[in-house]
Amino acid sequence: MNGGLQRRCGARFIASKALALLFLPLGLAWGVEPTEFKPGFNLFSLQQDVQLGRENAQKVDKVYPLVTDPQALRYINGLGRHLTSLAPNNNSEYAWAFKMISSPDINAFALPGGYIYVNSGAIEAAENEAQLAGAIAHEIGHVVMRHGTHEASQALLARAPLLIVTSMLGQSGSLTDLLAQMGLSLGVNSILLRNSRNAESQADAVGTYILYQAGYDPHAMAQFFAIVEKKYPGKTVQFLADHPNPENRIKDIESEIAALGPVKEWKPDSPEFEDAKKRLLSLPPLSSANPAPSVSAAASAAPPPPSSRLIKFEGYGFSIAYPDNWRVERNEDAVVIIPPGGIVETPESGTAQAYGASISRFQPQSAPHGAWGLVDATQELLGTLRISNPNLRVVEQKAVNLKGRSALSTLLETESPLPGQKEQDLLITTRQSDSMFSLIFIVPQSLFDTYKPSFDAMLQSLELR
Ligand SMILES: [Zn+2]
Repeated sequence: MNGGLQRRCGARFIASKALALLFLPLGLAWGVEPTEFKPGFNLFSLQQDVQLGRENAQKVDKVYPLVTDPQALRYINGLGRHLTSLAPNNNSEYAWAFKMISSPDINAFALPGGYIYVNSGAIEAAENEAQLAGAIAHEIGHVVMRHGTHEASQALLARAPLLIVTSMLGQSGSLTDLLAQMGLSLGVNSILLRNSRNAESQADAVGTYILYQAGYDPHAMAQFFAIVEKKYPGKTVQFLADHPNPENRIKDIESEIAALGPVKEWKPDSPEFEDAKKRLLSLPPLSSANPAPSVSAAASAAPPPPSSRLIKFEGYGFSIAYPDNWRVERNEDAVVIIPPGGIVETPESGTAQAYGASISRFQPQSAPHGAWGLVDATQELLGTLRISNPNLRVVEQKAVNLKGRSALSTLLETESPLPGQKEQDLLITTRQSDSMFSLIFIVPQSLFDTYKPSFDAMLQSLELR
């Protein structure tokens, strides 16, 4: 917010085990039965997954530059649909749709209900059809395991009791709007795309299963992840927006493969894949007037996770501890604490803080000499912030106790300086002699839960004098 609110697994099957088991009926010897893939807790119906996916796909279609080449689209849809036909838990209610986003970043993502987006960069990076199929199968895994609405269900229950949530979800109208009313706003980088490590491991398992069923070398998915890691070294591999890279991912995939069945004669690369790849590479690049607001451009530029080791900063009238991979800067009216890459360039307003914290003092004008109340003064501060952030919205406000001081905690939502992203800010205000002390935590909404523990630790360390 401007000015202050801002894994080849070269491993082989164990041949002796394979031979011994070959004499058993197949279903017994090898059996990853689809029934083993059980979606988690979910308050949404499958129809609601589709509705939510459709509503959000319409937004994605508006924000991202889509590939319109009919041959490339025919190819990706043909491949995608074939893979879904082999997916566990799939049924006729899913609205499978496969689209391509024109972007060099290696990325793909899935919305609930079956809306899958693959970047042209992912197809260009894949060495063969099996690898591309691996990436798509992984996304199909997220859909059939219903990870998006699983996450949303958990987030809703954290906000309201079950009875209220289920009755809200029973209403008609836009589900996206309904969720927004419940404090879950679904931007392009939304909770629907925010997968846990466990969800990633499940998607890997489903993806590997689908690859095997389709006759592709199931190692291809892991090979593809290796390509992604090579391209984006040193970063937490975020194949696919907001996908945390599970620990031991390659090892886990290997053990999944070992359970799938005997080595088959794997499908060779297809000429259709090579054609589609060539076509994509020959398409003219995007004009600079229509730059790709790439999910992973933002994700790959995202700061490393906040360190859990804190160091103390002594400010004027206050001290605070902050993650030791962040730095402190002072500008005219604030002390800003920022992770590497936390300040971004924006076309409209120059630089803006997209991550971190900002500390300042505010002097309420409406009632000078300290004759002001915290709620009103905070309201006044929000008014000044709205000048540069017209879409600033209060999500929740509550009184909190800050080591004996009464304080106000205000959860805010606004546009992030990062393209196409929402921002979540947590504003803490409290009186400090005649002025108001204000501490604001800033992060893209999709990462709020990731940063929250660091924000809480910083807040706990805050001392005012
Ligand atoms: Zn994933």
